[in-house]
Formats: sequence, structure tokens, C-alpha cells
Amino acid sequence: MNQKGKSTQCIHSGNPEKDSYTGLVTPVYPATAFTYLEVEDYVYPRYFNTPNQRVVSQKLAALEKGEEGMVFSSGMAAVVTVLFAFLKKGDHAIFQNDLYGGTHSAVAHELERFGIGFDFVDSLDPLEFEKAIKPNTRLVFIETPSNPLLRIMDIQAIAKVAASHGLVSVIDSSFASPVNQNPIDLGIDVVIHSGTKYLGGHSDLSCGAVITTEKLMEKLRTTAIHFGGNLDARACALLERSLKTLALRVERQNENAQAVAEFLESHTRIDAVHYPGLASHPQHALAKSQMHGFGGMLSFEVQGDVEAFVKGLKLVAPAMSLGGVESTVTSPVQTSHARISAEERARMGIRDNLLRLSVGVEDVEDLLEDLGQALES
Ligand SMILES: *Cc1c(COP(=O)(O)O)cnc(C)c1O
Repeated sequence: MNQKGKSTQCIHSGNPEKDSYTGLVTPVYPATAFTYLEVEDYVYPRYFNTPNQRVVSQKLAALEKGEEGMVFSSGMAAVVTVLFAFLKKGDHAIFQNDLYGGTHSAVAHELERFGIGFDFVDSLDPLEFEKAIKPNTRLVFIETPSNPLLRIMDIQAIAKVAASHGLVSVIDSSFASPVNQNPIDLGIDVVIHSGTKYLGGHSDLSCGAVITTEKLMEKLRTTAIHFGGNLDARACALLERSLKTLALRVERQNENAQAVAEFLESHTRIDAVHYPGLASHPQHALAKSQMHGFGGMLSFEVQGDVEAFVKGLKLVAPAMSLGGVESTVTSPVQTSHARISAEERARMGIRDNLLRLSVGVEDVEDLLEDLGQALES
């Protein structure tokens, strides 16, 4: 299936040819007990090998151009399972500082008591990552585009640094989705998604995914079975259905976000717009070279009363999370970055008037009108 286009893959890859009773849709197999006679492997939800888990994992592997996929009950279940699968006592790992808050917090609060050392690299320069490598470093973890400033890491350069030092390279690619970015093609070993975002795409599903090689998956599976972050059959089926429209949704979100970013950039009440699709983005060329589309996420700094602006929006909902078909807006200072001190936020470049927008699939004229009227009022 790998030579087919993304939309075709979204629909047709990973489909079970047998056992579908001639239906075009995978049946839901809620069974948690499977007969063990005449099978090679015991089938069990926490072994990540039930029919619905297998089908949706295959679809994700095809979309990310990896050998194998695995689905988890949340993005964080995927993140911590990867960390504990590839790190042990005495090891050291390197993380991009600009990480999803939950990942940053998990690293800062969980690794040390297991005897795992770590460093956060406060730079997007691959050379700074290389400088942080110690004799016991085993893993490097990046996230691009980053939250909330949409900074871009050079995926290929980081993968090269990791490979030349024998490290496992891991990327959280949630913001891009497999439609806009395929890190395995750029040399990355392990791709993680918070499926709660674009993969699910309808703000009604919590899940995570990991895509990697057969060899690394073998190691990951053992840890995953111990940690038990498996996804339920019905959630797998819902994820599979959502993935069929992933390319359609994301392509529309890319177009809408580009138009919204250009509109905001030209508006007098906006101080700054952070979107990799804008020529003014400092890493626009890098984004263009490693992404197939610039995504549906952007952030901007609004002049005047930020809260009044948010309250003035009629279509765009102030809501946590992202990646859904509906446009949503959040204030990082009030939500994801609320627990970070004002000085630290200033150092990170996150101003009090920054808003993060997750652009949905609405008609773009309606989005522009809504943003425009809230800015004028
Ligand atoms: C939301 C998110 C996560 C965590 O996913 P959950 O499904 O909430 O556990 C990880 N990384 C990024 C980039 C996210 O946006």
C-alpha cells in the first residue's frame, strides 16, 4: 500500500481481508477472552494483538511509512511507554525543552527516581543536542512543530546526530499528523502521536500511537504489556473510522490555517503570528523542506484586552485540546503554561497576549469573519 496516496491509504490500508463477513468496515471485536487452541500467539487486549488493535495499528504504520504500529489509551501512555522501553537505570536521555507540558513534566518528575538522567536542550540547533550527549546517553526526544510557538526542529539533522552516536531518536509528531510529516523517511526511529488530537479529530476520543521498526517494536511491546496502556476495541474502531478522513480533514485544516494566518498577519490589532506556512516564520524554508503541509495550528499575539477578544468569538470556541474539526482557541498563559513562572515564560517567548488557535474544517470565510468581528469589537 505504501506507493498509494495518503487519502487512499487512510481508507484502504490496514483493512482485514478475512473475517469482515463481506462488509467494507472492520467489525468490532470486543472479546477479551480468545481461544488459545491452534494459535501461535495468545490474543489478549493488553498484548496489543486483538483484531481491532491490529487493523488500526497497520493503518497507522502505513500512513507513517513505518514497519509496525501500536495504539495506546492516551498520548502520554505512548510517551512514557517509549521512555521506559528504551531507557534503564544509569542511562541518560536528551529532550528538547520546548515540549508538550505533560511530556516535560513526566520527564522532570518520573525519570530521576528510576535512576535515569536527562537534560533539556533549550535550543533548536542540532549541534547543541550533540554537545549534550554523554557516554551513557541512549535516547534523544524532539517535538516539531512545537507548542505553542510552532517552532520547527531539523528532523533529518537530529536523526543523523542520534544515529551517529547510536541513540534511539524519538519524535512527538502530534501537531503535524502523518499527513503533513513522515519523520521515519527523515531517519527518525520512533514516531509518537497523541491520537486524541488529529488522528481522532472529532474531540471525542483519547488515544495514542507509536510507529517504529519491527525490531524496536519487539522491545517496546514487552514494556507496553507490563505498563498496560492498551486501547479498547471500540475506541480502536472509532479511531479507524476517524483515520479514513484524516487526509481530507488535515488538507482542509492546512488551507484554512494558511488563510487565517495571512489574515491575522495583515491585521493592525495583531502583533505577531507564528505559523510555519508564513514566509515571515524564521524556519519557513526548513518547514517547507520537511513537511508536506504546514498544519492547522498557529498562535498569535493580540493587542488590547485578550479576554474580551476570546469572549467576542462566536464560532471559535475557547477550549483545551486541539486537532478537532471545530476551531478552538486557548490562552497558553491561562492553560498549558499557567504553572510556569512569568519570568520563565518570558524567556521562552510566551507573552501574556499569546493565543493558540487550532483551525478546524469550517468554511474559511466564516472563520475570517468571526476573528475579524472579535478583533474589531
Ligand atoms: C496532547 C498532547 C500529548 C498528550 O496526549 P494525551 O492524549 O493527552 O495523553 C502529547 N504530545 C502533544 C504534542 C500533545 O499535543
